[in-house]
Amino acid sequence: MKIDAGRIEVICGSMFSGKSEELIRRLRRAVIAKQKVQAFKPEIDDRYSPDDIVSHDDRRVECRKVRAAAEIPALVDEDTRVVGIDEAQFFSEDLVDVCERLAGEGRRVIVAGLDQDYRGKPFEPIPQLLALAESITKTMAVCMVCGEPANRTQRLIDSDERIVVGAGEAYEPRCRRCFRPPGSGLDERLTEPREAQRRSAGM
Ligand SMILES: [Zn+2]
Repeated sequence: MKIDAGRIEVICGSMFSGKSEELIRRLRRAVIAKQKVQAFKPEIDDRYSPDDIVSHDDRRVECRKVRAAAEIPALVDEDTRVVGIDEAQFFSEDLVDVCERLAGEGRRVIVAGLDQDYRGKPFEPIPQLLALAESITKTMAVCMVCGEPANRTQRLIDSDERIVVGAGEAYEPRCRRCFRPPGSGLDERLTEPREAQRRSAGM
């Protein structure tokens, strides 16, 4: 029996850029191809909380919640060909070793997560995974200020925590030009440019 070479694929971008949708699309295709698929996400994330993230006919893939990435290898079945990992930015850096190990066993590992935090800084462990991955997809959202493609996540509430979960309305996607890093002294809600745009558009 031929043993697959194994690979790591990373899907990353800002919030609201369709990372999970792209992960699900790839997992669904693997399911259709009759490959055994398993998916995992960190327990911290219970915003939408679907246990089954992939379904096609009667074939379903449960997205199992784990507290730490280190739990994943023992949960992966021998015959699983594809492993999906969502919200990877909430795992610690040991996710990198876990992905390397699973890919080294000949599996296709598909990882989705935020590549930047609310300050626009690289969000570990995604940068390390980008360096090791065979394939990288950057998903783009739409800038809520100007409508250009957006790869940054603007936090609209005041917090110094790197992770604020369950507050989708506290964030919006922004492009490089409209993004305002917290503490930059610039208005994070960007009301003036928006007003200026309305004026220039004659609204
Ligand atoms: Zn913009």
